[in-house]
Amino acid sequence: MAVAKSHWHRTVGERVLRLIGLLVGLVVLLLAITLASQEVPAASTDTIRIRPLPTAHEASCAIAPLPATADRLLLVVADNNESVFPQIVALEEALSSYFNLRVQRVAAADYQPALLENVRASVVYANAVFKDDERIGELVNDTWRHELPVLWLGPGAYVAEAELDIVLKTDPSAFESAPKGTIVEYNGVSISATGFLLGETISESTGSPARAVATVRLPNGTAMPAITVRDDFVHVSFDPLDPDLPPNLALAVVIDAFAEVLGSPTPDPRVLFRLEDLNGHDYGETDTSFAKTANYLLSENVFLHLAIIPEWVDAQGNVQENIGSARKILDLIKAYPESVSLIQHGYQHFRPEARNTGLRSGQAFEFFLDDDRTLGIEKAQELLRQRLAAGSDLIERYAWRPHIFEAPHYLMSPSQQALAEELYPVIHHQPLFYASKSSQFLLPWYTKRSAVVYAPSSAGFVDVLKPNSVSKILRVLEQGARILPDPVFVVFFHPFVTEYVGRETDLEKLISGIKELGYRFANTCEDISRPR
Ligand SMILES: [Zn+2]
Repeated sequence: MAVAKSHWHRTVGERVLRLIGLLVGLVVLLLAITLASQEVPAASTDTIRIRPLPTAHEASCAIAPLPATADRLLLVVADNNESVFPQIVALEEALSSYFNLRVQRVAAADYQPALLENVRASVVYANAVFKDDERIGELVNDTWRHELPVLWLGPGAYVAEAELDIVLKTDPSAFESAPKGTIVEYNGVSISATGFLLGETISESTGSPARAVATVRLPNGTAMPAITVRDDFVHVSFDPLDPDLPPNLALAVVIDAFAEVLGSPTPDPRVLFRLEDLNGHDYGETDTSFAKTANYLLSENVFLHLAIIPEWVDAQGNVQENIGSARKILDLIKAYPESVSLIQHGYQHFRPEARNTGLRSGQAFEFFLDDDRTLGIEKAQELLRQRLAAGSDLIERYAWRPHIFEAPHYLMSPSQQALAEELYPVIHHQPLFYASKSSQFLLPWYTKRSAVVYAPSSAGFVDVLKPNSVSKILRVLEQGARILPDPVFVVFFHPFVTEYVGRETDLEKLISGIKELGYRFANTCEDISRPR
């Protein structure tokens, strides 16, 4: 059987052979024990449970919060009302996480010159409702005198045209949504910009010239600067936080443009490779896809994030297997604890609910966006707490207590997300509630929120229904690497895909493609513990 020839079985075999050599008298006994353990049926795997020690990184998988002495960035927003502009929190967390800065956010109306004392830089986010505010002009003047880097997003810089020695152009589409087909070009990447709010663009400056680092192209052929850099002043003419856009890299473009003046990090593109929906049903005794997949990935030095569904439920809601039945997965963890990281992917990836009718584990939803409303916050949180405790106990029974959580289908309610942040130091998807459900930013960095770390955005997964999944994933990775020197993305894969006719080589194409783009495979726990 191909399975028995897997790497970790050979390693165990070699160890046994060495023992035999040393302890000839125990040969018969050892063989008997080995044979006996192999004959244990899947149903009683408790007798072979493993307790490997996780590596040092895996044992804690936590970050130290930003020290109080970390540099501070002042973020001034036209309107500080989170209920109106929840995506401002995305900007704040992106700036803080990417540049390791403590961000102080204030409304323009509350700006005081004293707030600029001891700051590293300032950022102004103005938008469609921005009204001429003398304090904004004051802020720019003060910042300019302090020779601080400024990132200006959106309209309103005209209040400081003279101070900044620039001339702003608002024609032809200022303050209007871009026509369909408008794109922003940056480092050879085109980002669809329909719905971007076009503000002002710098058209002239005497003294030191303004360099356009990104261009807006309208469908009628008109081109104008999308981002200009003049000394320490970075001006962005579009809105990277537009909640009506599909997931895109506009925020990453803005972050990289600001890094031109704040200092760019060392190049280091990384992929966090995750094997998804691992469970005792699909990957039981008769499965060969997991061993084949894991063997190949280990031979390619891919670090494996194992997203485990602790307990399996069929479409009728009956509990079938738990992760203890996935012998090859447990054997891998035992043999290669330094090459794997355990992620708790819910408890059953299912719960009894009308909306889950006909769906089994892996397809069903365990938590819903509307749980706070339909169950009440207290019950919604208790449901999450109980289910995740049961799932953690199961994984610990066979390996160790997981420190990383991934919500099934990346879905839970706001109060459940808040509780998950208390229960786990790492959540293996991006934060969920920056904007409307349909719009998520692509965030190719870890988002740090107090002591919790969110994984970067996913670049995609190999979907058996979509023949071009691999090229789509590689395209996102290529764009990320063109925009940022150090992008990090999650890529995930279901081992059973290797058994689908016509999809046998997808995994190899994916891995070689990732390497060709200059990405390395990282370990989340190790990566977040590295100082930047
Ligand atoms: Zn899943």
